[in-house]
Amino acid sequence: MIQLERITRNEVYRDKKTTIVVFFYLVGYCIDKEVNMHYKKYKKILSTKNSMNIYRGCSHGCIYCDSRSKCYQMSHAFEDIEVKTDAPIMLDRELRSKRKKCMIGTGAMSDPYIPIEKELRYTRKCLETILNQKFGVSLLTKSNLILRDIDLLQQINEVSKCVVQVTLTTADEALCKVLEPNVSSTKERVEILKECKDRKIPTIVWLGPFLPFINDDETNMRRLLDYCVQQYVHGILCFGIGVTMREGNREYFYDNLDTHFPLMKQKYNKAFQLNYECGSKNHRKLMTMIKQTCVANNMLYGVEPIFKYISAYEEKKEVEQLSLF
Ligand code: SF4
Repeated sequence: MIQLERITRNEVYRDKKTTIVVFFYLVGYCIDKEVNMHYKKYKKILSTKNSMNIYRGCSHGCIYCDSRSKCYQMSHAFEDIEVKTDAPIMLDRELRSKRKKCMIGTGAMSDPYIPIEKELRYTRKCLETILNQKFGVSLLTKSNLILRDIDLLQQINEVSKCVVQVTLTTADEALCKVLEPNVSSTKERVEILKECKDRKIPTIVWLGPFLPFINDDETNMRRLLDYCVQQYVHGILCFGIGVTMREGNREYFYDNLDTHFPLMKQKYNKAFQLNYECGSKNHRKLMTMIKQTCVANNMLYGVEPIFKYISAYEEKKEVEQLSLF
């Protein structure tokens, strides 16, 4: 019963419009059958590198998603969301025990702004903890639900440092709906960048993946880079032009190719067989475009400098001192 007591009344009865929500209890494990949501108890939330995933699994449905690969050993369907019970409480406790302030990262394996976050507000509660304890944060998302928390992000950035990272894959809105069906459109994500720019919150754009024969063309790249320039992003991260495929994500991707791009699966099979890396023939040309744009616009470029920037904690002493008066 320990687990049930820790889930608030709101969480248990969060959707009164739908029929009865039934919870099954096993030891430390709880399943909400209606929305395929699991509460699972963990001992810790922060990794050794100070990153965290509040949720496991993701309902955004990106057709190329690597996180659904079998190697990650999810014990349930990827769309079934596992919620880490007490995530904000665990984070609060772990931050208190740290000797040095640092950046806390989230969003690597599961978007912190999946739809269930609207009701649970775990990500928001974690941000409040980060602000209260004067840590920094970096978040990676494709959802404009992040704008709900823009006040907190701005405050964190005034006290320490907040970096908002947004993924952009295609400037073609119709294609975006096919590649990333359940999440904000590219234009909505550009709005996130704009809002952050207006509030002086630094942003990093993750460009890609660029799927061979689908969105790996110069026109798309030019339009995405123009968005980055217009919104004064701090840096652009791109791991290469192509996509990676592993057992689990390949099958899902190929099923989607069959649904949306007739004969494309055969093209992929011929070009890449079971390769992990499915590179684009436009790799060099498009990477050059990114680099030239970054250099011309004074943006950070390259995996190493960007990760160094994201993980570097800053304490804005001036703000702290000012707040004393
Ligand atoms: S948002 Fe990220 S984790 Fe979620 S489906 Fe898309 S690629 Fe996967």
